[in-house]
Amino acid sequence: MPPIGSVPYITAWSGEQAPRMPVITKGRGIGYADERPYDRDSEGVLWTRTPSLPGKGRPEYGRVHTLRQRRAMGELLCQVCARPADRTADGVLWLSGEDAREAASWSGDLVTAHPPLCVPCAMRSVASCPHLRKRFVMLRVSAYSPAGVRGALYRPGHPAPVAVDATGVAFGDPRIHWVRAGQLLMRLSKFTIVEPNLV
Ligand SMILES: [Zn+2]
Repeated sequence: MPPIGSVPYITAWSGEQAPRMPVITKGRGIGYADERPYDRDSEGVLWTRTPSLPGKGRPEYGRVHTLRQRRAMGELLCQVCARPADRTADGVLWLSGEDAREAASWSGDLVTAHPPLCVPCAMRSVASCPHLRKRFVMLRVSAYSPAGVRGALYRPGHPAPVAVDATGVAFGDPRIHWVRAGQLLMRLSKFTIVEPNLV
């Protein structure tokens, strides 16, 4: 079993299963019957309630832990080690799995569910992940803002709302009140591509 420290901070463990939480119609959208203040963020969005038990069971590398992803993204912590992400005068360090040439032609914003990184973890990620090694760019991001959430979208139903899609919904979209959020999305609106050896 890998020690906790060698598993990325945002990776979910098999012992961290979200309880079945039925949603009800509430206010402008959905809610929990026994809702608590921390079930919603400052935008009023409902979040999936997930136990935080890192180290329990085995790491599930394909699955992201809701609260740790949200915290890393919101507080700009490294998604791997949870220390502050690297920041220079050029911006915060993000790693993107896009092809560098493609990236060079990007004109619009990027919206990502992947939190930023510190330099050592970014270097290790690139060195250890075959997919990233071939197709990645490092970005220095100088303008970013929370864009919305990815989660389970519901529609009104009887006796209870019905989950219809797993999707991203922007803050400001009326459907935001009908989503049970699982990940915070960040809009990267001003960035430069940096060479790994110049990070
Ligand atoms: Zn790190």
